[in-house]
Amino acid sequence: MTLTALYARVARSYPMTSAPTTSAPTTSDPLTSDPLTSDPTTSDEGASLVEARDLFKIYREGAVETVALRGADLVLPRHAVTSLVGPSGSGKSTLIAILAGLSLPSAGQVLFDGEDLTRFDEAGRARLRARRIGIVLQRGNLVPFLTAVENVELALKLAGGRRARRRSVELLRELGLADRLNHLPRRLSGGEAQRVSVAVALANQPDLLLADELTGELDSATADRVMRVIMESGRQRGLTVLLVTHNQEIAARARHRLRLVDGVVVAQ
Ligand code: ADP
Repeated sequence: MTLTALYARVARSYPMTSAPTTSAPTTSDPLTSDPLTSDPTTSDEGASLVEARDLFKIYREGAVETVALRGADLVLPRHAVTSLVGPSGSGKSTLIAILAGLSLPSAGQVLFDGEDLTRFDEAGRARLRARRIGIVLQRGNLVPFLTAVENVELALKLAGGRRARRRSVELLRELGLADRLNHLPRRLSGGEAQRVSVAVALANQPDLLLADELTGELDSATADRVMRVIMESGRQRGLTVLLVTHNQEIAARARHRLRLVDGVVVAQ
């Protein structure tokens, strides 16, 4: 099997990669200011990238029904960090999966750049995800038999990126993982694996980053470093971020703050 064929096969099993698109450069310097509040200012600031309307999600297991989302509305303004907090079981992971197009709502709409994601078939949603959405999931989404640097390289190569090894090494170094490049995921700590997932998610400069408990396993200095890399990565193009977190301090610093309560989103 050729390397390309292998990569294509792996990508089908681990569809968490993204590819480059073009977008206008932005101006602020997040490295010299608070990474959470110093969102870049751009001409289309104020317009939303994502708008979810009246989302319902009902899980059915035999006779048991669980209503995870019950009419959730959400707006993610472009080029800004929005934080989302909520108790365990309030529907956060369900919401992230729907916004990423990994699952469909039982009812409701998800407008991504004005297009209703819920009307796309699975292949269409996978294409949109591959081009424009980076995802960091709590349970991790690394290919277990590839090293840290190979995981990032895979994301870049699938998108046809050039100089994939060099860019992967750079990104992992920025995230403080210079001495973990050749480790397999099982030899990484939870926090390290999460940072590699961040590198994979950012490799192809997505428009939207969906992060589930991104900083949960990181000490505050490392969490800050990760946030700075995310915003630096977004500087050129204005990344939109939804940060699901239990960390009240980080949530409070985001420009836009939401809370999920019993499947409904409320402003903080
Ligand atoms: P959170 O991420 O806030 O902890 P979840 O979205 O994981 O919340 O879960 C919301 C509710 O939906 C919970 O009651 C959970 O048990 C239920 N749930 C989540 N996923 C499934 C599933 N695949 N099948 C059945 N119930 C589920």
